[in-house]
Amino acid sequence: MLFDTLFTQGFTDEEIKAMVAHEIGHWYHLHDYKILAIDSANIAVLVIAFALCINNKSLLASFGFCDLSNFVSLLIFTKLSEPISFITRLAVSAVIRGFERDADLFAAKNHKEAVKTSLIRIF
Ligand SMILES: [Zn+2]
Repeated sequence: MLFDTLFTQGFTDEEIKAMVAHEIGHWYHLHDYKILAIDSANIAVLVIAFALCINNKSLLASFGFCDLSNFVSLLIFTKLSEPISFITRLAVSAVIRGFERDADLFAAKNHKEAVKTSLIRIF
């Protein structure tokens, strides 16, 4: 993301062009739409999994609960989904890192040296 603070942090014009090119690279590769699709799929899977868990008598019984309870179902679902969510977050992070690399490569086509120096300056 670009902020107006770029102009006050001492970046050169070429480095600013490289950062704008990086953002254009995200647009060129349709990364926003891909992230939207990934997030939508993730939410759909969570909703379906929760629908399978909520007030599931055998699931509640396996945790020692005899009565149906939305609250207990939510607690059990939350605990059961944590390891899956951890793995999902790792996978999504890897995909997003790939998107950043794609955007950097797009920017480096015309601003190779400025991409290097701006990344060094950012970190
Ligand atoms: Zn980026």
